[in-house]
Amino acid sequence: MTDDEVRPIDGGTDRDIATTAGNDAFTDETSGEAEPFRVEITLKSFDAIGEEVRLGGPILETGGILLGHESRAGCRITLAGGPGPAATREPLAFSRDLAHAETLADQAWNHDRAIWLGEWHTHPYSPPTPSETDMAAYARHLADPDLGFDTFISIIVGRMTDLGQDEAALALVWVVDRRGARTTPLLLVEETP
Ligand SMILES: [Zn+2]
Repeated sequence: MTDDEVRPIDGGTDRDIATTAGNDAFTDETSGEAEPFRVEITLKSFDAIGEEVRLGGPILETGGILLGHESRAGCRITLAGGPGPAATREPLAFSRDLAHAETLADQAWNHDRAIWLGEWHTHPYSPPTPSETDMAAYARHLADPDLGFDTFISIIVGRMTDLGQDEAALALVWVVDRRGARTTPLLLVEETP
């Protein structure tokens, strides 16, 4: 992958995540059944999301970008960003701090050629499933040939306002492609491959 292929971060809301040019040929070679897509996350990145969820509190949405590496078989998230200081956080909406996301993406690319894989965000008042707004945004990104996402990864932390102080929020990871969204286990891995 060359520098030209680094996934650009667009200026939209948290749901308006964009990506890079890539291979548009997501095909099922056999039956049309979805191939299992393996989603791994480093413990450090998982903990970073947990800390941002805690800092964000149970009322306002928060989120950030997911960066890492991917192959046809799956991906490994090696960096989970926070909302950034200029983010707009509301009970039912969230807009990332674009400059913050771009800085993180540049740093990750320079560090180990990590690319933009997707996003995470919270649903304080609803289950950890993609909303219609979320799905519409993901579909736009997947359909954009300049962005070239074959698979968009979305981690959603939901129903936080239903929880007591000592309860952990429920997070689901969604693998979104042109056929729709499906959940898959989130596999925790150590930092080194
Ligand atoms: Zn959402």
